[in-house]
Amino acid sequence: MATIFEKIINREIPAYIVYEDDLVISFLDISQVTQGHTLVVPKEPYKDIYEMPENILGHTMKIVSKVSKACKEVFEIEGLNILSNNGAYAGQTVYHFHFHVLPRFIDDGVSMKFPNHMNDMTIAEYKKRALMIKEALL
Ligand code: 5GP
Repeated sequence: MATIFEKIINREIPAYIVYEDDLVISFLDISQVTQGHTLVVPKEPYKDIYEMPENILGHTMKIVSKVSKACKEVFEIEGLNILSNNGAYAGQTVYHFHFHVLPRFIDDGVSMKFPNHMNDMTIAEYKKRALMIKEALL
């Protein structure tokens, strides 16, 4: 079933489009978590990061960079988060891969605080986790 993003790409529903080329489209997130909150979306409906071909991901990231710089230029931002949610447990609600470009402002009410577990870690555990990932990358 087509997601809401495919409907935007196909002009079946409106969106505030800021950029478009053959591979990628970028438009304001309807929720505007902060001023200028923008999505960068490959046109092909890859579900998540695992399905994304590396060349399309590279181009998508290039547009993320451009949109980020544009937001920095036009809004008085204090910072900027780039975020991609993959899977329901990670907060993904639209199953068409995308990046959020989220400008940040003082007292904007957004919390990105991560827990820090370094005091529970051992060197052996760091080594084990690094090795697992390293081997999977081969
Ligand atoms: P996710 O939760 O999957 O990381 O992000 C999906 C985003 O799509 C949400 O931030 C949500 O606000 C946005 N969104 C959902 N429906 C629409 C829509 O119809 N138009 C636009 N522009 N954004 C939408």
